Amino acid sequence: MRIRNRIALQFSVIVASILMLFSLIIYLNSASYRQEEFYERLKNKARTTVRLLIEVKEVDKNLLKIIDRNTITALLDEKVLIFNEHNQLVYSSVDDQVIRYNPTLLAQVREEKEIETYSGDNELIGLYYTESGQKLVILASAYDKFGRSKLRNLGYTLLWGLWGGISVTILLGVYFAGQSLAPIDRINRQVQTITAHDLGQRLDEGARRDEIDQLAVNFNAVLDRLNRAFEQQRSFVTHASHELRTPLAALKSEIQLGMQQRLSPEQYGQMLENLMEDTERLIGLTNSLLFLARTLESSNQMPLTTLRLEDLVFEARDELLAANPGYTIGVDYETLPATETETMLKGNPNLLRRVVFNLLDNACKYSADQTALVRIGTDTSSCRLIVEDRGIGIPPEELERIFEPFRRGSNAVGYHGFGIGLSICRRIAELHQGSLLISSMPGRGSTFTLLIPHLGVAQTR
Ligand code: ADP
Repeated sequence: MRIRNRIALQFSVIVASILMLFSLIIYLNSASYRQEEFYERLKNKARTTVRLLIEVKEVDKNLLKIIDRNTITALLDEKVLIFNEHNQLVYSSVDDQVIRYNPTLLAQVREEKEIETYSGDNELIGLYYTESGQKLVILASAYDKFGRSKLRNLGYTLLWGLWGGISVTILLGVYFAGQSLAPIDRINRQVQTITAHDLGQRLDEGARRDEIDQLAVNFNAVLDRLNRAFEQQRSFVTHASHELRTPLAALKSEIQLGMQQRLSPEQYGQMLENLMEDTERLIGLTNSLLFLARTLESSNQMPLTTLRLEDLVFEARDELLAANPGYTIGVDYETLPATETETMLKGNPNLLRRVVFNLLDNACKYSADQTALVRIGTDTSSCRLIVEDRGIGIPPEELERIFEPFRRGSNAVGYHGFGIGLSICRRIAELHQGSLLISSMPGRGSTFTLLIPHLGVAQTR
């Protein structure tokens, strides 16, 4: 069932139930009031009759009958019967005795003093009169034509009112539910036109005030993020295939060259060495790509341990120096940690070692003196790793872009690299709730600062 119809149905059922309940209460109340009022009239009639008969000497049975029949206020089918203590009828306002009574009824009146009941369609009351030394039972009955007709009329009015009210409620329910849900229909239609290839489209956000506008705002925000992710992925794939094609093309031309000419064993040896070098470059590139792809995924399964920043620095330095003996890396403290825990952090050792390795590698690679200076520092919340060099630096307008995958500085041509390392480093820093900052001056050198929350927060505050 469509939401519009469901809302209209629920609304109608609620309103209809309220209307029915009210109508029922009004009807039952009126019915009970009519009956009470009629019984009261019958009682008055019965009392007047017995008083006239017993207490007014001038009035005898025949005169009373005449009075009864000629009273303008006489009720329809009105009968008053009076019985003595032996259940003998001592007075009847009408000649026939078509009033249902039996000794049990009379005994009941004597016992209860006053009863209200029915005789067929007629209301019937019984009174026990014990004044002036008499013990009489008076039965009075009549048909409340006027009251019943009023009640019937009220019933019809309520029924028509109910029918009309419910119909109007259903119509209004459908109309207003449709009106309220129209923006959702609009959003639905707009969403249907958005495809994976066309994420640039946005939903109409209206006045950004009600819940549906907010839904559109949030949906647009999701689209923005999706679009960015798609863009990143697209540029990643383009760059990756481009980066892979270049060394593959170099490999191919080298092999072609070898196949076209006859080469001496030394030349073949040289060629194989070149091929090996290119293949290693390719393996390095694909490993980096795989690594980048993995770090871009969710980090939920990333195993964390407690680490010491100094250990990471020395491990990365040793690894780098083993591969590049010409590099020089100095390590020092920027500020001496106040407690042991200030340089301790919770993180993934492999990922963080890779960050330090990359920063040290870049610092040496992009400096003529192939020297990097590492400083370790702390503050109240984070431990800090500063990697400084006196190398080629980075032009100011490129400072933020070099963190994007495959971006390289305009002055880095001629230096070997793929432009992936820093994007991996920043991503890893973010996975550890940290950050990677840069300041650099072309021709003067660069400073990279890695900030990661340490374990000593509680103690140092
Ligand atoms: P790669 O070094 O393989 O090119 P990175 O992602 O590590 O890739 O670095 C991206 C770019 O940032 C480099 O191409 C270079 O232009 C610039 N860069 C990084 N570190 C330094 C540095 N220490 N000095 C100067 N430029 C740097």
